[in-house]
Amino acid sequence: MTTKSQTKTYLNYINGSWQAASSEETLVSINPANREVSGYVQRSTREDLNEAVQAAKEAQKTWGKRSGAERGNLLYKAADILEKNLDEVAETMTREMGKTLLEAKGETSRGVAILRYYAGEGMRKMGDVIPASDGSSLQFSKRVPLGVVGAITPWNFPVAIPIWKVAPALVYGNTVVLKPATDAGVTAAKVIECFAQAGFPIGVVNLVTGSGSVIGQGLAEHKDVAAVTFTGSNKVGKQIGQTAAARGAKYQLEMGGKNPIIIANDADLDEAVAAVLSGGLRSTGQKCTCSSRVIVQNGVYKEFKERLLAAIKKIKVGNGLDDDTWMGPCASEEQYNTVKYYIQKGIEEGAELLIGGDSPQSEELKQGFYMNPTVFDKVTGSMTIAQEEIFGPVLALMKVETLEEAIKVANDVEFGLSASIFTKDIGKMLTFIDEIDAGLVRVNFETAGVELQAPFGGMKASSSQSREQGEAAKEFFTTTKTVFIKG
Ligand code: NAP
Ligand code: MG
Repeated sequence: MTTKSQTKTYLNYINGSWQAASSEETLVSINPANREVSGYVQRSTREDLNEAVQAAKEAQKTWGKRSGAERGNLLYKAADILEKNLDEVAETMTREMGKTLLEAKGETSRGVAILRYYAGEGMRKMGDVIPASDGSSLQFSKRVPLGVVGAITPWNFPVAIPIWKVAPALVYGNTVVLKPATDAGVTAAKVIECFAQAGFPIGVVNLVTGSGSVIGQGLAEHKDVAAVTFTGSNKVGKQIGQTAAARGAKYQLEMGGKNPIIIANDADLDEAVAAVLSGGLRSTGQKCTCSSRVIVQNGVYKEFKERLLAAIKKIKVGNGLDDDTWMGPCASEEQYNTVKYYIQKGIEEGAELLIGGDSPQSEELKQGFYMNPTVFDKVTGSMTIAQEEIFGPVLALMKVETLEEAIKVANDVEFGLSASIFTKDIGKMLTFIDEIDAGLVRVNFETAGVELQAPFGGMKASSSQSREQGEAAKEFFTTTKTVFIKG
């Protein structure tokens, strides 16, 4: 790739060219494993943003008229380029936000698969024929693009999330301005480079880095941005939703979670422990779908707890680039401090710290933002660590008597993103599926992740009730014309 790895300074991509911000200032992105500089990204201004939106608006006039197949072909090319650069992109991700190389490669492969899925969408139907009340007329619906889409993304899936917003936006005929998280700005630049190399017409894809309150809020406010798709925290999401709604723009918000995993008395405990480990601690607990509340029925509580602790003791914390590392550092100093704050809260409010709660002591790891996997016991529903999203490697164990109580505890939070149950009883499965307030419902499977062809999103405060991915993306990234031709 032709990245500026020597200078480690990454540029905006506006109107088909890589350019510096008009502020002539940059923001730094840090490797959380050792505090080295991963790179610098542009501290853009509203002027830069206006330029990108203007370019996207102009480009959309012709891009929107191209056939879906043509648009899809360019996505296939971007997929091939990303696949060719998979190792480099994945390593950049690990160096920038800390997840293990194995996970970073998995995520980048997923980015490739998402691009190919939406490339195929270019050949699929974009409307329906609807019977007219008079037999000789033709009535049909036709999906049409929205215009310029603003995408605002977080640092925790720095390849997959930008791609699952940008790819459907493009294939359905929109043009895009992406504002990635600053802590993942270098990875975003490498992703956009794949689009640039694929040969999209100028102005169709634009990257503008900078502070959230300037560029993110700027996208939400911009009169020429028809729709805003956001993934990130509830605090920021709410503000973006209100700003977009106030000017009548379409918006979509995917936000936090406090996801429960219920272990029933008849659960397969080995599988349940594996799911809690993977869903709760992979990516250092920094997934919106991570399991943070482990709700266990009293019949298996003691046994489950022992097996979980035995498994956690074997976890190797370290630099994500090392082959034997299972869990990397928190993604940034800010994230590390947030996790420490919640651990302190848990102790103060009377939860029992079973393991972790501290950082690894080796000389090598002292430089990074590492936190050991942490488990609290005797957590009750009103405690802060049972209510608020931590976004770190912290599990809250909660004991319940019955399935009814388990579901009540599971639902007793403001979020409703993902939830899981481990049981062999079909009746319990069906009750759980009916009663749980979650957009993603898992049975005998971890809470984290979703297949890319299926709808993704949460209930309650976890989302704006819209869905991403799969066919659901078409709902958001297009609008409908209903056409009647008098026969
Ligand atoms: P965040 O602080 O809300 O940031 C998300 C994005 O918004 C970043 O690009 C950020 O830019 C930007 N931003 C920050 N302040 C802004 C403002 N005032 N106006 C407009 N934009 C602003 O979230 P994060 O810390 O990056 O990500 C973690 C959160 O994302 C967690 O809550 C997690 O649950 C959620 N998440 C949800 C999903 C889901 O699909 N439900 C998936 C992944 C993550 P800067 O980086 O420059 O500040
Ligand atoms: Mg970083």
